[in-house]
Amino acid sequence: MLKKDDGVVLRAARSGETSKIVTFLGTRNGKIRLIAKGALGGNSAFRGALEPGSHLEIVFYHKENRTVFFLREAHVHSVLRTESLTLPALAAALAVLELLDQVCFPGSPEPAIVELLLEYLRCPIDNDPLFSFLVFQYHLLVVLGALPDWTVCATCSRILDEGYYIPAEGLAACRSHAGYSSRRVWMDQRLTRLAATINKATLSELRKIEVAADTRKDLGAVLHWTYTYHVNNYRLPEALKLIPKDKRTDD
Ligand SMILES: [Zn+2]
Repeated sequence: MLKKDDGVVLRAARSGETSKIVTFLGTRNGKIRLIAKGALGGNSAFRGALEPGSHLEIVFYHKENRTVFFLREAHVHSVLRTESLTLPALAAALAVLELLDQVCFPGSPEPAIVELLLEYLRCPIDNDPLFSFLVFQYHLLVVLGALPDWTVCATCSRILDEGYYIPAEGLAACRSHAGYSSRRVWMDQRLTRLAATINKATLSELRKIEVAADTRKDLGAVLHWTYTYHVNNYRLPEALKLIPKDKRTDD
């Protein structure tokens, strides 16, 4: 039976002599793995389309009792224009695709995630690629329903301009109510205000704002621990290692 979907290539690898195996995130089918027979052949209709970051409309099918799908047609909406990106910007885009490959599951379509990814890919301006990755991570937590409430103390409900964040419990607390036994992260005013800004703005608006390196680093740590405790399968994406060390948050 033929099926159609619209979505983005997360990963593509060679399969055998002439074929490719593609991990695709579609609005209707969620994450699926597709075999594109003959994709590496010189006159294949898929040539150039099956790369990470390509936005495609596809037609595919599966044989009975199989979980692997076969790609039949691919119409290209857009591709990741690698030649016009700096290495850090490319690394950030690949890290976004890697993150989605980790946290999305087969058979669980999430159109809002595909929409967020397309918004990220559509915006070519990238003053600070690492910050743009963190902004994506933040908004993905919103879509996944896993964003902690950093604005109030979980015990006394006081509004927090600064306070402790306890990643394992996914909550924030004021000075008097943060338990000493938990692993906890101090969130200063700059960090809570940055989080509030990210919450209100779109991805493309956020790419224009400037963030101090240490605040960005603190934001990276808070997001990293939130994913570690609350999002299944998360690991720090390998592609982030391509970003020069002075711009990274994991050291
Ligand atoms: Zn409190």
